[in-house]
Amino acid sequence: MSRPFVPEADRLLGVKRPVLSHGFVVLVDYMGNDAAIVQAARVSYGPGTKSIRDDRGLIRYLLRHRHTTPFEMVEFKFLVRLPIYVARQMVRHRTASLNEFSQRYSIVPDEFDLPPVEEIRRQSARNRQGRAEALPPAVAGRFRADLERVSHEAYAAYTMALEAGVARETARMVLPLAYYTQWYWKIDLWNLLHFLSLRLDAHSQEEIRVYAAELAKAVQAVCPVAYEAFEDFVLGGVQLSRKERRAVRSLLEGATPEKACADAHLPLTREDGQPMSTGEGVEFLEKLDRIRAST
Ligand SMILES: Cc1cc2nc3c(=O)[nH]c(=O)nc-3n(C[C@H](O)[C@H](O)[C@H](O)COP(=O)(O)OP(=O)(O)OC[C@H]3O[C@@H](n4cnc5c(N)ncnc54)[C@H](O)[C@@H]3O)c2cc1C
Repeated sequence: MSRPFVPEADRLLGVKRPVLSHGFVVLVDYMGNDAAIVQAARVSYGPGTKSIRDDRGLIRYLLRHRHTTPFEMVEFKFLVRLPIYVARQMVRHRTASLNEFSQRYSIVPDEFDLPPVEEIRRQSARNRQGRAEALPPAVAGRFRADLERVSHEAYAAYTMALEAGVARETARMVLPLAYYTQWYWKIDLWNLLHFLSLRLDAHSQEEIRVYAAELAKAVQAVCPVAYEAFEDFVLGGVQLSRKERRAVRSLLEGATPEKACADAHLPLTREDGQPMSTGEGVEFLEKLDRIRAST
């Protein structure tokens, strides 16, 4: 039995793909490919399945019906260099195994994230966790200059502390969240797809989305069929709640979107009559917009 390999994926092995100011993603290794998903699934369904569905159809069926374990047969190992504020988001994905650079053992390099001015935008009024429109260039430029100055000052304090004999594990406390860390990150395909579904989404912070986009390229190279199914059914899919299904029924019967929301008790206005900017009704209209915009 030979070890499965994918030439497109092998070309990515060991290649540093730059992300943000000083970050990168490297595909260190992978185990399995689309064929490994199929092979595992045929243990459940038996050899007769081959005649019923081809491999592509089987993978798409498994993903659609959330038969998850065959996807866990494929593994990815990455080396990721990322700012601490992004690492704090990525570490929440508990199904990954990771081993991080030790700031107790080693000296932290003088590298911090410095976003381009166009990424320094106004706080969103609608999404408390997000950014909105551009700021006046002077405001964005001032913040960027402050970030740069404070980071240099913090690193100078760190260096002085080390020179004065302060332990590395203590000296690091002066370093801001924009400084970089690095880790090996290993995860199976199912949990990586789950990670991507959350972190490619527009609700996630832009800076983790760019990491997710690089990780996604590796998945696409190793398992093109599974990734295509993920794009079709998860990224490009739309999930409807019970009320939203009721609203769709009204739409099919000829109601306007606003009437459909009213029929399904999906609120669009507050008690004082003011339009709502968030909530189930607004999100349903957004789903309709996404469907209208789909190609
Ligand atoms: C847009 C966005 C905003 C966020 N905002 C915040 C925030 O403000 N504050 C905050 O603290 N976090 C926040 N998070 C993190 C979020 O709550 C999750 O911790 C993170 O997305 C990891 O998701 P997960 O648990 O599904 O993934 P994983 O940890 O990879 O777990 C995958 C799946 O395994 C199962 N699982 C894993 N561990 C357990 C367990 N112990 N018990 C039961 N089931 C388990 C679950 O089914 C889970 O979905 C945010 C995430 C996103 C995407």
